[in-house]
Amino acid sequence: MTVRLTKIIATLGPASGTKKNIKELVKTGVNVFRLNLSHGDHEVVRQWIRWIRETEKELKIFIGILLDLQGPKIRVGGFENGSIELKAGKEVVFTTEKAVGHETLVPIQYKSFHKDVKAGDSVFLNDGNLCVVVRKVSGQRVTVVVKAGGILSDHKGVNLPDSSLTTSVVTPKDRKDLKFGLAEGVDFVALSFVGSEKDIQQLRRLIQSAGGDAEIIAKIERKQAVANLEKIVEAADGVMVARGDLGVEIPFADVPVVQQKILKECAQKCKPVIVATQMLESMISNPRPTRAEVSDVANSVMYYADAVMLSGETAVGKHPDAAVKVMVETALKAESYQIHSHYIPRWNRQNDKNPPIERGITYAANHLVKMLHAQAIIVFTLGGGTARMMAAPHPMVPIFAFTSRLVRARRLTLLRGAYPFLVEENKDFLEDVEELFGILKARRLVKKNDRVVITAGLPIDIPSWTNVVRVEVVP
Ligand code: PEP
Repeated sequence: MTVRLTKIIATLGPASGTKKNIKELVKTGVNVFRLNLSHGDHEVVRQWIRWIRETEKELKIFIGILLDLQGPKIRVGGFENGSIELKAGKEVVFTTEKAVGHETLVPIQYKSFHKDVKAGDSVFLNDGNLCVVVRKVSGQRVTVVVKAGGILSDHKGVNLPDSSLTTSVVTPKDRKDLKFGLAEGVDFVALSFVGSEKDIQQLRRLIQSAGGDAEIIAKIERKQAVANLEKIVEAADGVMVARGDLGVEIPFADVPVVQQKILKECAQKCKPVIVATQMLESMISNPRPTRAEVSDVANSVMYYADAVMLSGETAVGKHPDAAVKVMVETALKAESYQIHSHYIPRWNRQNDKNPPIERGITYAANHLVKMLHAQAIIVFTLGGGTARMMAAPHPMVPIFAFTSRLVRARRLTLLRGAYPFLVEENKDFLEDVEELFGILKARRLVKKNDRVVITAGLPIDIPSWTNVVRVEVVP
């Protein structure tokens, strides 16, 4: 059986939000569902979560749930006639006062706008299609000059790449959504418009004070986040390359380079990374993707993204299942090419002065896989740390991850190559590897004579304690 290493995330929405569709998408290959709280009310999302958990039981599989908080998405207000035309070279006033907009007045639904911008800052509107530059700020009124004009209609998005937002990135709406999501047991919380590691720390405090421990995914979509990348990756549990807003905040040509930097940084810090947005955009309306889209997915796989994500394709598109199928086929093909090419496990932290023991073990295990042509890795993981470390050098074989915690099993759904198994606590499988292989053979995940590299911590059940590496041949 060929096991796909790259994980697939699908965003739920009106096109996919039924029990039948959820089950179909999981059977086709979805590992994690994203619930985007920019759209969808709590009752609808609660029902989706129930259906996902039911599907999990029925298919005897683990499914991750990622709650995507909207963050401080800035929008313009409404206009007298629904829209205005911004003309290049003309002056317009943006205001945070309560007002209805017209040809020379644009209300902004972000009360600190006039405090956060300064003369010379660029402001992008409507997905970056329009651009104005700030001329002067007086009180709540900001005079701007239009650089790139066009039609601006009610409630279009605003991006401020040159400003540090003075508001908290966790908005009052996010706090309510977070409370709801944690009560429903979501596995991951994605934070939009992260600026620095402080935003992650703030969200971590909120999660902890609610008694939760959901993992935090930092969405990199602000210019400021790119500048603070290292510290953000360090503080978060995972990262999303949110190319939609990122492509507004930084020049288009920089997006692939930043994507590479993020992938590299995450590998160094053993954090899972998601490549997101417009991966198969044309499939929102067409049954087949463009060649460029397929190449984008394949390249993300070949650069070892942990997961590739579908947004509108599965949320509102006409062909959600076909889009997942394209990702499955593309990932399998790209991975099989990598297996047969000269793959060398990557490890970028060999210069660490005092590396932890488990780093040495997982590094050695990766090299053993390559040298002995092993077909799989087995890890025992309580907190997920060992599995993440094992995945970081990007082995080309599955990591069968045994854990005694249900939440951990669900959170491993995002990690490249990791296939979770729930086992009873305090069980020492190293005493009876036959039982271990029995579980894997029953699912046809290993076969007789396969070489398998096993790592474990002795004594058992200490989080992140891995001090043994062993090679077995499947009986
Ligand atoms: C993005 O901007 O690429 C993204 C994933 O965020 P959202 O879909 O919430 O805008």
